[in-house]
Amino acid sequence: MKLLFLGTGAAGSVKRDEADITEGIRRCTTMMIDETVLVDVSRQSFDYQTKLGKDPAKITDIFLSHAHGDHFNRDSLLKYAAATEGKVRFWCHKGALENLKFTEEELEKFVLCPVEICDTWETAGMTVTALPANHLVGSFTTAEKPLHYIFEKDGKTLYYGCDGGWYTAIEWEYMLQKKVKFDGVILDATVGEDDGNFRIATHNNLAMIKLLTLALKQNGVLNENAKLITTHFANSCYDKAYTKEEVFGPLGILPTEDGMELEI
Ligand SMILES: [Zn+2]
Ligand SMILES: [Zn+2]
Repeated sequence: MKLLFLGTGAAGSVKRDEADITEGIRRCTTMMIDETVLVDVSRQSFDYQTKLGKDPAKITDIFLSHAHGDHFNRDSLLKYAAATEGKVRFWCHKGALENLKFTEEELEKFVLCPVEICDTWETAGMTVTALPANHLVGSFTTAEKPLHYIFEKDGKTLYYGCDGGWYTAIEWEYMLQKKVKFDGVILDATVGEDDGNFRIATHNNLAMIKLLTLALKQNGVLNENAKLITTHFANSCYDKAYTKEEVFGPLGILPTEDGMELEI
């Protein structure tokens, strides 16, 4: 699986159409797989992938993690819908529909595919599993369950754990009971070195990432040479004296940048 990170920023990135790749200014979090799949569809994703020479007409499937504005942008989704002549499949938790508020007219422009927690299905040459994230959109009474995904393709297995703090009990037990072996693990790194940050229940800080990756190693959830990856950075939560490489390098973790490509 070839990954291309079209955006690696947390919610502070929302308000710019074409964010620059400079410290503190990142595009909203979106990832491309093998030039045909997107995980999340954010404000800058369509224009940025076009700028990078990646053809939006090739996108067959978009997987939404959740309906927050740094992961979902209506205009971007409709641009992909137009580029694919209505063929693009849009996967989301069925409860997200109350937050996404699609009109009848919009729903005619792409293929809506709502899923439930722990569903597994085949699409885009992959086996995909939707797992519950520890995250929340809007009110604590919302029907939306933010999703993490497991993508399996060509003998490789990738965990996409963004947004979300910790693993939920369901996803951790799923990994152990199904004896999943990851070749790549992508974790939410929003809060960085700000240990007491208010986002503590919905995003990871650095201390949590150390424990989460240690648990993966100690419980046989990783294949040899598995890549540990972090994304979704709120740069205000990182000490400006250190680069992301200096923070994550000693932990054996790759921090992402906008435009970065990785092979899993
Ligand atoms: Zn986010
Ligand atoms: Zn979020």
